[in-house]
Amino acid sequence: METRLRIAVQSKGRLYDETMELLGESGVKLTAVKRTLLVPSRNFPVELLYLRDDDIPDAVASGTADIGIVGLNEVLEKNKEVEIIKELGFSKCRLSLAIPKRTEYNGLSWFNNRKIATSYPVILSDFLKKNGIKADIHVITGSVEIAPGIGIADGIFDIVSSGSTLVSNNLVEVEKVLESQAVLIGASANKLNAEKQAILDELLFRFNAVAAADGKKYILMNVPREKLDEVLGILPGIKSPTVLPLANADWCSVHSVLEEKRFWEIVGKLRAAGAEGILALDIEKMVL
Ligand code: ATP
Ligand code: MG
Repeated sequence: METRLRIAVQSKGRLYDETMELLGESGVKLTAVKRTLLVPSRNFPVELLYLRDDDIPDAVASGTADIGIVGLNEVLEKNKEVEIIKELGFSKCRLSLAIPKRTEYNGLSWFNNRKIATSYPVILSDFLKKNGIKADIHVITGSVEIAPGIGIADGIFDIVSSGSTLVSNNLVEVEKVLESQAVLIGASANKLNAEKQAILDELLFRFNAVAAADGKKYILMNVPREKLDEVLGILPGIKSPTVLPLANADWCSVHSVLEEKRFWEIVGKLRAAGAEGILALDIEKMVL
């Protein structure tokens, strides 16, 4: 039977879409069967095991899956024998302590002898212990943010991304404890066999190519020959920009790669230097 690398992924929820997008951009096509527990790819030797995110660290630690994609927060909270193979850069959020607004806050010691509601008791108790704070941790699994409002806790420890949930519950973030993002994990104890390791290496190579292209634009433009040096001085380029001749010998075509966030700044300079017909294209993959 053909060897397949089994990847545990979230079956629905916040990680699902971006996990599928990353696999898609990496050329991993899945058979149309949706939401059965185990789905093989039809063109790459992997199969996806769909689970709740809570179950992913254990599935990987126990060898039920070879690798998994899950939030760092879940990895630390579940505290299983897994190691982080790669940070994937999506589903970024943080775990923070928050308290009712208009509360006088004088630092962490505020939490001494207070009650904190959370779904992350392991990470929280670890943090409190490290900082010498003794608080009462009250575990609830959903809607943690309403706990202070209904009087069952003084503060909360929860996921924050934009902060709008805190605002609508009259809370303010007072301590950022952990920065989280989606990570690729593997078991720390059992090593993959050579065949599976080779599949993982190819997958990582593709993930890196997708990540390298993220936030980059391919740009091309026409430049008068006499302005070429000036234009090349403006372009950051990967190594050196491509310069091609045009039918009109007084002009040439220059191609390069730009960070999207510097796009308008650099385009302004290029136009001022005499570049015309500037085109910008999305880059899907970049193999460096
Ligand atoms: P499951 O049903 O699989 O247990 P869940 O309800 O526990 O799902 P989700 O809300 O889907 O979990 O969140 C999954 C992960 O996405 C979180 O553990 C966290 O890493 C990340 N995450 C959560 N909220 C946000 C957010 N607002 N912005 C970005 N990432 C987030
Ligand atoms: Mg969950």
